[in-house]
Amino acid sequence: MVAFTVTAACIDFKDRSCVAACPVDCIYEGDRCLYIHPDECIGCGACESVCPVEAIWRVDIVPDELAAFVEDNRRFFVESGLGTPGGAAVVGPVRYDTALVATYPVRP
Ligand code: SF4
Ligand code: SF4
Repeated sequence: MVAFTVTAACIDFKDRSCVAACPVDCIYEGDRCLYIHPDECIGCGACESVCPVEAIWRVDIVPDELAAFVEDNRRFFVESGLGTPGGAAVVGPVRYDTALVATYPVRP
């Protein structure tokens, strides 16, 4: 199983199409971005095909310029204290972002 990850294009966009597509509910909502739980993701790819801005990548083929987001998706669950909740619906939106996302430049 190869997990998927959310990258820069989702920041401040968050249309959440991926959330509805995920069969295991492992895409969690932060303040500016969504994050895929790297251990809960079963690697099905359903989210990738519905994201309108191609923000979601398989972790083993993510472009170099977005590679930092792979570890950053994992960091979100550690730093926010969420851990491994087993489903995003019961958690709901979390008022937290990693430093990478929180300081990411706002699009003009
Ligand atoms: S690859 Fe599948 S399991 Fe993983 S986040 Fe996307 S839809 Fe969910
Ligand atoms: S579909 Fe794409 S842009 Fe929308 S929330 Fe998911 S990753 Fe973000």
